[in-house]
Amino acid sequence: MRKSVFVLGCMALFWGLVVPVQAEDHAGSDKAIYQAKVNIDPQRKHITGSVDITFWPKDTKHAYLHLYPYAFASEHSGAQWDQLLGNHPTLATYASTKLSVDGKPVEGKRTGTILEVPLAEADNEKAGSTPTKIALDFDLTLPHNDGRMSYDDHSIWLGNWLPILAVEDQHGWHLDPYEPTGDPFYSKNADYEVDVTMPESYQLASSATDSTAEVKTSSSGDRTYLLRAADVRDFALVIMDGTYKRLEGKVGDTVIRTWWRNTDDADGAKHVHDAAAASLEYFNSQFGTYPYKEYDVVRVGGEINGMEYPALVFLDGSHFTFGGTNATATVVHETAHQWFYGLIGNDQIHEAWLDEGFTEYASLAFLSNKYPEVGGERVRKRLMYGMIVPFYVQEELRPWQELAAFPDNQSYSDLVYSRTSSMLWMLRGAWGEKRLHDVLHQYVDKYRLGIADGEAWKTVLSDAAGEDASSFLDYWLKLDMSQQEKAAAWLERQRK
Ligand SMILES: [Zn+2]
Repeated sequence: MRKSVFVLGCMALFWGLVVPVQAEDHAGSDKAIYQAKVNIDPQRKHITGSVDITFWPKDTKHAYLHLYPYAFASEHSGAQWDQLLGNHPTLATYASTKLSVDGKPVEGKRTGTILEVPLAEADNEKAGSTPTKIALDFDLTLPHNDGRMSYDDHSIWLGNWLPILAVEDQHGWHLDPYEPTGDPFYSKNADYEVDVTMPESYQLASSATDSTAEVKTSSSGDRTYLLRAADVRDFALVIMDGTYKRLEGKVGDTVIRTWWRNTDDADGAKHVHDAAAASLEYFNSQFGTYPYKEYDVVRVGGEINGMEYPALVFLDGSHFTFGGTNATATVVHETAHQWFYGLIGNDQIHEAWLDEGFTEYASLAFLSNKYPEVGGERVRKRLMYGMIVPFYVQEELRPWQELAAFPDNQSYSDLVYSRTSSMLWMLRGAWGEKRLHDVLHQYVDKYRLGIADGEAWKTVLSDAAGEDASSFLDYWLKLDMSQQEKAAAWLERQRK
């Protein structure tokens, strides 16, 4: 994402910032299948639905779901929540019901946005080899706020709205709450089948290939879209009324669709669309080919600035105005996330530098190539904010820390975006663009559609450098000043 600090800090400081999936096909994999049916009433801002999640549990005692809409069903206070929600937010109502495991009703235990699901019936010996199906229903009345899941008079945008499995990895279960700073998400690649029913006067864009979705129209005037998305780590959806228009183009095998409103500036929309297409083409060439058939860039309401989802990004209305200076950098940043977040997933709560920092570096690389004026200025600012760190050293803040440790959006921006992208820009200075991008391409290939962590990047970097990169990474990402000279010497050796 690029949110508040880009609205506040960045604006001021920088730039003013089908075939149904069968369970047996998946045997032996740990890729979950989400099958959802949802009914959307745009007048009442009301959504009812059911979700079946088929997966191969390793922990046979329990599984955990994130039910993120609960985060917006109660009040929050504090400056970061205020920045996320905006002025006069209204609350959601949300209920999850009829929880079952393999067809048997079970009692879940909810704590905040986390639902613990008992898998008592599962057989230990079959762990990982036999699929389990969790089913539940939900009923959501949307909140009104500036965030990722809300609405205005012309659209409903749904990010992090469907129940989603928590990740269990080598560190155990990740049961982090929704936080106002950064993107507090961590999910694995999965397959989605989402049937969306809504009035026929509305159109939609989603993480699926919407242009080829099967559509059924009922006698009551509702339409049902059978949306299918393979290999995505989340499923976002936007419902739009008749004021929306669409620009369409193609890059490689991917159709790019930019959705904007007839009250927006047409040249601004064209500019966003062109920057999305040019950056997708560039990232294809530098970091490996984009796997999805469709990429939607969707104008939403509120003030999210930009937010990334697989095969779909949100951009708020400020990017579709005449001469919107922020637009190029934001759409390019969100497009770069398609690689660093989308193709390579990571724990965005504990290692946000992996997605945001690499994404911002990729954006700088593209902008420097294709929009040198915008790029040059941005690189200069990123380096300035990324290298002035005595205050953060004193405060014991660093890029490589969990979201909750950042006291404000400014520190999050300076450390996670600016310092990490500065580190990669230094490496580019030593290696040259081609060598760095070759290594990033190998990194993407190695973890494509999977999960990487900071240690994985350390290994990739050390292997490529021909020597251990710990001092370099500790200095840049942990602000370990005792490693400053070693890091400089390491970088100096890389110039040869
Ligand atoms: Zn971002």
